[in-house]
Amino acid sequence: MKLQTLDEWSFDVFSLSEAAQGTPVKYLGYDLLSRYGMIHKFKVPTAILENFLGKVEEGYCRYRNPYHNNLHAADVAQTMHYILCRTGLMNWLTDLEIFATLVAALIHDYEHTGTTNNFHVMSGSEAALLYNDRAVLENHHISASFRILREDECNIVQNLSIEEFREFRTLVIDMVLATDMSFHFQQLKNMKNILSLAEPKVDKSKAVSLVLHCCDISHPAKRWDLHHRWTTQLLEEFFRQGDKERELGLPFSPLCDRNNTLVAESQIGFIEFIVEPSMQVCSDMLETILTPLNVKENNEESGPVDRTFQIIKPWIACLVENKKIWKEQAIKDDEIRAQKEQDHKKEDNEISNNAQGTNE
Ligand code: 5GP
Ligand code: MN
Repeated sequence: MKLQTLDEWSFDVFSLSEAAQGTPVKYLGYDLLSRYGMIHKFKVPTAILENFLGKVEEGYCRYRNPYHNNLHAADVAQTMHYILCRTGLMNWLTDLEIFATLVAALIHDYEHTGTTNNFHVMSGSEAALLYNDRAVLENHHISASFRILREDECNIVQNLSIEEFREFRTLVIDMVLATDMSFHFQQLKNMKNILSLAEPKVDKSKAVSLVLHCCDISHPAKRWDLHHRWTTQLLEEFFRQGDKERELGLPFSPLCDRNNTLVAESQIGFIEFIVEPSMQVCSDMLETILTPLNVKENNEESGPVDRTFQIIKPWIACLVENKKIWKEQAIKDDEIRAQKEQDHKKEDNEISNNAQGTNE
């Protein structure tokens, strides 16, 4: 079993999935929840946990999506685990908050249709009708996951008190709703404003929501081979949506036209404008909230030392490397495109010359 590197930033979830015979959610979900002592603390019967994780895994496989599938769920949960244990965030959270955080990561894209919110709205899907065009997918991921918990044999929160359940539910709802990309800029701006205050007070729910959002878009900050594989799979999912849009006579959504999408260029943009700023604000936030837990009170003579706590940030080097590779790729793509255009022009000229020749 490939679980020995579970604490690493660039953990290979693809190998885990192979080792786990295509059930990474079940293996990782079980492993993580037991590592954090959740099974014990919240008295989760192990058979019930297995049923729940099995149902979640099934839902992720329902639409056979190239990207939004059980591997993505496991990847986001593992990244959440990395942040919880390697930055020390877990020490700032209660057991119930850790439980909610892990479950939210596991279910955050449950029954994803492989199409975007915009596609749901534009095609007038059932889900869009049900959720009035607002955070259509995210609302579904949450609602359908809580529906699993209604079945006794899958109810992993059956031994929580009423108060605990209310808090768990509120946290999971807040966290998963905040994975809607349309809240991205507002979310970052709000957190930046809070962190710029003289005495920043970071709300727990806002903090874990930002962490989940970052885990969700973290593959461009992982080792190149992993990031490249995720990119290929996400783009294939987008292109399939494009195929549907063509069939329905809808305009192409961004990145969905398989014949006219500049992958390398768009990835550079996604990294620079979305991923890098997110990771920056998230790490600033983590350092702010974790500093008081790490500043050691010194002895009376020297007084307290004002040492700002710093977390390790393995994503920085990955982001630099991945951007560099995409930039090289973009140059190559440009050259190929220019060459093709030239070839086309030459062909056109030859055709018109030939035509002139026959007219004369
Ligand atoms: P999710 O759908 O996984 O909950 O939210 C993450 C969103 O971030 C995706 O739907 C997608 O829009 C965006 N995203 C994630 N990875 C990439 C990427 O590599 N490139 C681009 N352009 N968008 C991405
Ligand atoms: Mn996701």
